[in-house]
Amino acid sequence: MDLHDLYQEVIVDHNRNPRNFFAMEEANAKAEGFNPLCGDRLTLYLNVEGDTIKSASFKGQGCAISTASASLMTDMLKEKTIQEAKDLFEKFHGMVMGESSDEQGLDKLTVLAGVKAYPSRVKCATLAWHTLQAALNDDNQPVRTE
Ligand code: ZN
Repeated sequence: MDLHDLYQEVIVDHNRNPRNFFAMEEANAKAEGFNPLCGDRLTLYLNVEGDTIKSASFKGQGCAISTASASLMTDMLKEKTIQEAKDLFEKFHGMVMGESSDEQGLDKLTVLAGVKAYPSRVKCATLAWHTLQAALNDDNQPVRTE
């Protein structure tokens, strides 16, 4: 599989130097995600105050797409309300599934739009987001993308 088109500068950068890459001690919500197709694993940590996400971080190991996606996502979530985070997930999901061309508000997340041409990579890109949903829903079952 030629992933060349996917490895844009931003993805490479976020994979090499993932942002918010640490286990957050003060997290009051967290969830684990696993993508068996690729072997991506991550734990997502959130610090939620009222209905606002004050900070987000992650730890784990995965391919460049899953790591960059988690890094970009945790950056985007700061100071977002839970509803805004859910709306962002809907838009992001629509984009990577190729179902929506509404990219307003997605900002840097649009660098991941290329995965829609690689169905097996969609799960890498959405793993962090599915894990986010589990964390927000206080779901203690680990997320599997299958
Ligand atoms: Zn992957």
